[in-house]
Amino acid sequence: MAGDLNIINASSVVVVADSGRARAGRTQGQIDIVHDAAVIIRDGIIRAVGPTAELLREWGDHDVVALDASGKTVMPGLIDCHSHPLFGGERHDEYAERLAGASLAEVAARGGGIWSSVVATRAAADDELLDRLHNTLMRMVRGGVTCAEVKSGYGLTVDTELHQLELLQRARATSPIELVITFLGAHVVPRDIAGDDPGEAYTNLVAGEMTDRVVAQGIADFQDVTVEDGLFTPQQATRIIARSHALGLRTRVHADAWKPSLGWRTACAAGAVSAEHLTYTDDSEIDAVGATDTIAVVLPVAELIYMTDRRANARRLIDTGVPLAVSTDYCSSIHATSLLSTMTMAAPWFRITPAEAIVAATLNAAYSLGVQSRRGSLDVGKRGDAVVVDCAHPNELFLGLADEMLSAVIVEGHAMPIPHAS
Ligand SMILES: [Zn+2]
Repeated sequence: MAGDLNIINASSVVVVADSGRARAGRTQGQIDIVHDAAVIIRDGIIRAVGPTAELLREWGDHDVVALDASGKTVMPGLIDCHSHPLFGGERHDEYAERLAGASLAEVAARGGGIWSSVVATRAAADDELLDRLHNTLMRMVRGGVTCAEVKSGYGLTVDTELHQLELLQRARATSPIELVITFLGAHVVPRDIAGDDPGEAYTNLVAGEMTDRVVAQGIADFQDVTVEDGLFTPQQATRIIARSHALGLRTRVHADAWKPSLGWRTACAAGAVSAEHLTYTDDSEIDAVGATDTIAVVLPVAELIYMTDRRANARRLIDTGVPLAVSTDYCSSIHATSLLSTMTMAAPWFRITPAEAIVAATLNAAYSLGVQSRRGSLDVGKRGDAVVVDCAHPNELFLGLADEMLSAVIVEGHAMPIPHAS
């Protein structure tokens, strides 16, 4: 399946060279551009990057497909490190209600919100869920994505969560891209859990039987836990994370999406690989935590669609020495699949530079998923994943609606079908 391909004559090749760790601080903005360059892929692996004329002397076999990237920019394949694409039901009505002035509480009171997706997903047929998932993954590819994280979390019982992880595993057989699977039992507190303190009762279940069974099942690559005022407290999340780490399952955290909830501090203190959203994380908390290995994943489309009155302070996170990644947050209430457009939107949204946004959607996202040994940069030895865009310098991509400039998406040396690409 792995392909041979020579991408030649590119005006710019954006390497984002991997130096062995996620980029933070000043290095977040370094993308290592090579001009008038080629990328040589054999058996799906990058074999050489450098001046076209020089590389073609060694690699210019007549029977290898050549992609002429004259006037174009070649970037690493994008890595979407936060998505929830396995769900049933529809939530567009509640967005329309909110745009017409309804509050979140009003939408929830009439049965909307994540809980409505849990009910619909539990009731949906497997084939229906898998068909929708496949269509979503194909759309992600058409937005430049060559590897994606996919979460469970619309089941919230032991059996339904294990089943959703099984479906995500089955999706790997037909997925055009690598999937990293995350167990998200602690997404929200289910409304049908019994007891005087449902949050505590459900935490006991997740931190006990549910995590144990998920680890025994052996599908999940990560466990994700929400830290949010009204859902899981820092103490409850820390218990779940500790159980997960004790069983060898790495963790990520949904943090501070709706209110300041000490999610960032909790994720870093517990040793989570990443913390995501961070919309309401206080500047004082960012300062107090300081530089970290925990990767901050910011989600600009979520802030746009949720109409939050704050944005994550991505600028302060970078300047503090925190590696920054960016993702779509595709889920039942956000249907953005183009990470290319999300990445370019992130620059003005957070006032970060194009180079910082590119690192956020490639190398740092790969580190957040633990796939950096094979993806996330155009380094020799990594998989031949690339995005080709119709502009001579990567900065130019940020001046428009990026998908208009998408020219090709390459996965392990194969060009993926992209309708209307130039
Ligand atoms: Zn999410």
